[in-house]
Amino acid sequence: MAGLLFARAGVSVRVLEKHADFFRDFRGDTVHPSTMEILSQLGMLERFLERPHDRVTQAQIRIAGRDYTIGDLSHLDTPAPFIAMMPQWEFLDFLRDEAEAFPGFALDMEAEVTGLLEESGRINGVRLADGREMRAGKLVLMTDGRASLVRRLGLLPLTQLGAPMDVLWFRLEKADNAGDALRGAVGTSRMAVLIDRRTYWQVAFLIPKDAADEVKARGLDWLRGEMQALFPELDLSGGLTSEADLHLLSVALDRLDSWHRPGLLAIGDAAHAMSPIGGIGINLAIQDAVAAANILAGPIARGENPDPLLPKVQKRREFPTRVIQAGQKLAQDNVIGTVLSGTPITGAPRILRLLDRFPGLRRIPGRIIGLGVRRERVRSPKA
Ligand SMILES: Cc1cc2nc3c(=O)[nH]c(=O)nc-3n(C[C@H](O)[C@H](O)[C@H](O)COP(=O)(O)OP(=O)(O)OC[C@H]3O[C@@H](n4cnc5c(N)ncnc54)[C@H](O)[C@@H]3O)c2cc1C
Repeated sequence: MAGLLFARAGVSVRVLEKHADFFRDFRGDTVHPSTMEILSQLGMLERFLERPHDRVTQAQIRIAGRDYTIGDLSHLDTPAPFIAMMPQWEFLDFLRDEAEAFPGFALDMEAEVTGLLEESGRINGVRLADGREMRAGKLVLMTDGRASLVRRLGLLPLTQLGAPMDVLWFRLEKADNAGDALRGAVGTSRMAVLIDRRTYWQVAFLIPKDAADEVKARGLDWLRGEMQALFPELDLSGGLTSEADLHLLSVALDRLDSWHRPGLLAIGDAAHAMSPIGGIGINLAIQDAVAAANILAGPIARGENPDPLLPKVQKRREFPTRVIQAGQKLAQDNVIGTVLSGTPITGAPRILRLLDRFPGLRRIPGRIIGLGVRRERVRSPKA
């Protein structure tokens, strides 16, 4: 998205992606109304919605066998008042196709960045795994996620907020077409989300942090039994034949103290790794891209040095990041940590019972999840 917006403003952009394609599970399928608002402002929403997706307007969770509706997005005053469940590779393919319409945009696949070039204290390019060096005229934008090179090189200091869980990510066969895009369930010591991918269930099964080996040692039948206990109405007997089908997704919650240094800016998970709670991470990364382009694209297109403006991007985006991470930490510590520690779950917390009982109240979490905090508008120029 950042590449698209800078190219749209007339800046020459080269996006470097280490993989050969986007076809893998990047963690997360939830495109929120805030992101679709941006696509609408860019005149791309209709084409986006032509891609395969499912629509979710309500957030529901099952606790101790009873379903609670805890969020409602259908009343939001926005062009797409729902969550579009679209696999992330589909969304990234879409963004690439749209970005390629701008002459300044270039995408290099299988181009892994392994080092940064520096001259007189300013980052001015990158080194690739194949030994090539590339100079950046004005800025190196780090959008390389939670394992960002800036973190591995210790270039920018990091504050850890911690996470009590990891996720086992696997597929289960669908016995029939029953499904409604997204289901979450919580029971004593167990918690999972099922994402309907039409021909199969994508499962996110929560486990205590660093407990993957211990959980895997209990075997696949144990895991299938846990899933069946959470979702007794579904036939989950098919699939999952080998331990190799279980993928560990490590959950992190952290943020850089400073997102920039001369010649370099980090945004998205590179600047602030997000927990899966609320399915907000992708959408927050998109908002960062919009803010970065709003502040930097015009000046860079005019040939100005962006360095004095880099703190402005952090200032603009740090507040929503802090608010959302505080909410995620609260849920991690009070709900997920409690469940995974084995505390018996006999019912839902009071707040969830209230949301379920009063439909009007559900619009509040619906608004926070759907539109986020400090919504960005596309203000960067179109060349
Ligand atoms: C288990 C789990 C589930 C989640 N579920 C959701 C969800 O449902 N909805 C949601 O909104 N968020 C979810 N999140 C959070 C979400 O995954 C992230 O917040 C979001 O993907 C961040 O986007 P990004 O573009 O900053 O980084 P990423 O999506 O991590 O993208 C980084 C890109 O950089 C590439 N790259 C990395 N290093 C290099 C390099 N050295 N050279 C070249 N390329 C490189 C990677 O291949 C990748 O394409 C989840 C997180 C976890 C852990």
